[in-house]
Amino acid sequence: EQESLNAYRSLTAVTKDGFAFEMAANIGTPQEAVGLLEKGSEAIGLYRTEFLFMSASQMPSEEIQFEAYRQTAEAMQGRPVVIRTLDIGGDKALPYLQLPEELNPFLGYRAIRLCLDQKQLFLTQLRAIIRAGAYGNVKIMFPMISGVDEWRQAKALYEEARQQLISEGANVGEAIEIGIMIEIPSAALMADRLAKEVDFFSIGTNDLVQYTVAVDRMNEKVSYLYDYFHPAIIQLIKKVIDASNKHGKWVGMCGTMAGDPLAAPLLVGLGLHEWSMSPSSIQRIKQTVRKLERSACVQLTERLLDLDTPAEIRSELEAFLKLQQ
Ligand code: PEP
Ligand code: MG
Repeated sequence: EQESLNAYRSLTAVTKDGFAFEMAANIGTPQEAVGLLEKGSEAIGLYRTEFLFMSASQMPSEEIQFEAYRQTAEAMQGRPVVIRTLDIGGDKALPYLQLPEELNPFLGYRAIRLCLDQKQLFLTQLRAIIRAGAYGNVKIMFPMISGVDEWRQAKALYEEARQQLISEGANVGEAIEIGIMIEIPSAALMADRLAKEVDFFSIGTNDLVQYTVAVDRMNEKVSYLYDYFHPAIIQLIKKVIDASNKHGKWVGMCGTMAGDPLAAPLLVGLGLHEWSMSPSSIQRIKQTVRKLERSACVQLTERLLDLDTPAEIRSELEAFLKLQQ
């Protein structure tokens, strides 16, 4: 079974009627980028940089970060590498950064909120990423954006970091694409406005489900409610993809849903451009997409959008997939 899946390494995720989708990998360390191309990933859609910070005993310097980002960019040989800025707080702590105790950490001081507050920390990371941009096809992605203000503030700090480097005479390469994660419902609802300003979106279903359905993603007691096939989630995803298409921006997904074969007909039908997942899921998704016809997926998706419950949507998708050869 693994052997037959390996046959997909050199194949693309193209439907029978000729529509291709980019298959990207989620990684947490530069080491994970080594050999990714050979194993069939076409890009890195999410590099979670927090692991670089969590495994260190002190704040990683600009040089240490630059080395990690440069290595990752070089390993991908010109293919896209989406580097997500620090997503700390929530459940992820840093031993050397005193964070306040919070009653609701997932609703609190985390990710872009913390970075916009601790500007020096953020500028240092942005400088390291921009410098790494001279060594590959690097893109920057901000996590946990809730609306237009935060996006503009983060973008302004990116510009500031870039100007600093330019005036120092550093090698910054060409301008790089800057995008945001859509993982907070307010951002999904504002996608049409945000799409005018950003270069791309990546939908983070892990948090989007947590915040939309009000279910702690770690809590077993309520995990039965945690489902990316909830009709409300599908509506939000559709809204985000439609907004991107309207404004000519690309849109990816880096939450777990992107690596679930059951979701593939729906994501093809909605027209998601880039799918980012654990590298171990990519062959399976390629195999699934290659069995599909986009036109049939579009029709199926219209039916799915009318259904009322996650269970109905799942069973419709299961029945549909069984019919594909
Ligand atoms: C997400 O929220 O879907 C996501 C990809 O980010 P993380 O799992 O790192 O929160
Ligand atoms: Mg997230």
